Amino acid sequence: MRQQNKRASLSQTGVSELTSTDSVSDRLPSSVISALRSTLLNWYSEQGRDLPWRRSRDPYAIWVSEIMLQQTQVKTVIPYYDRWLTQFPTLQALASAEQQQVLKVWQGLGYYARARNLHRAAQEIVSKHNGNFPTDLKAVISLSGVGRTTAGGILSAAFDQPTSILDGNVKRVLARLVALAIPTKRAIAHLWQLSEVLLDPAHPRDFNQAWMDLGATVCLPRNPLCDRCPWQTYCRAYIQGIQTELPMTETRPPIPRKMIGVAVIWNDAGQILIDRRKPEGLLGGMWEFPGGKVEPGETIPACIQREIQEELGIEIEVGDRLIVVDHTYSHFHVTLNVHHCKHLSGEPQAIECDEIRWVELTDLDSYPFPKANLQIIEALKRGKES
Ligand code: SF4
Repeated sequence: MRQQNKRASLSQTGVSELTSTDSVSDRLPSSVISALRSTLLNWYSEQGRDLPWRRSRDPYAIWVSEIMLQQTQVKTVIPYYDRWLTQFPTLQALASAEQQQVLKVWQGLGYYARARNLHRAAQEIVSKHNGNFPTDLKAVISLSGVGRTTAGGILSAAFDQPTSILDGNVKRVLARLVALAIPTKRAIAHLWQLSEVLLDPAHPRDFNQAWMDLGATVCLPRNPLCDRCPWQTYCRAYIQGIQTELPMTETRPPIPRKMIGVAVIWNDAGQILIDRRKPEGLLGGMWEFPGGKVEPGETIPACIQREIQEELGIEIEVGDRLIVVDHTYSHFHVTLNVHHCKHLSGEPQAIECDEIRWVELTDLDSYPFPKANLQIIEALKRGKES
């Protein structure tokens, strides 16, 4: 009986189940599109989130928020966003800053390529667009670190342009709305089409923000709050009772773990040797304590000695263990095995890094370090106190 009711309801939603070969625009009646738009906008006017960047129409501020939100949650982003705008209140201020300053303000937010790209793109805007944020979708997408979703988010929020978006929240909501029978990764073109068809051209700013909010506060990844959802009547996943099973995902291989030997190298003057990574790639431009990956069958002290010889061309004596730090990046885990080391001989050279410096322990806070290294600094300070 329940199944019969479900079938009856499904035919009434007007939303068809989507497979990889369907054309979205042909399958959504205009009456359903209108209803989806108006119910979502009504819900947003009452339940939408009040976020700092939504109080602004400055494309620079909105762009900063969009980039910060790419891989980070709202509550983590807010203090960073405020600090960033205090430090770099305008696009010009960002463009003329040193990369080290930019990385320092970003420190702790992770995915540092985002900060480097913001910096580079600000310089591109100054040189190619006279310092004015471009208003053309193609020009925005061509900026470093800006994809179609980010560009759509900026242009709709800053200029109320009808540019669609497809971030993680929107993908999840859409996959459930149409009961997408394949993983979202394999239906990207169709989801973009759906996003374009549904976007309300009369209210693009509010509409894009509304469904980001719907995904972030109601259509949650694990336990969607369907009883509070303005799209419940139209949602095929809800009607079929499969909302927690969607979106479908591809099975991922387990995340590998890398064992790393790390050296805190002291000289006779009580200074510590740090190095700056090459500008591109993971953690590019950040400072770190030197070290590297443990080879099969190698002990941690042997690894540290070898890495320091290869990276900096010096001899060291590996001493006591300072700390072991576990950290997870998007595609792998690392375990940093950190040892105190004594500089014995040789002049350090920047062989596999960009720059090296002997610094005082008290000066470490003025350099941008990745999050995992901050625990090493804390351990060093605690050691100094005890
Ligand atoms: S009804 Fe539930 S599953 Fe469907 S869109 Fe709303 S919250 Fe998501």
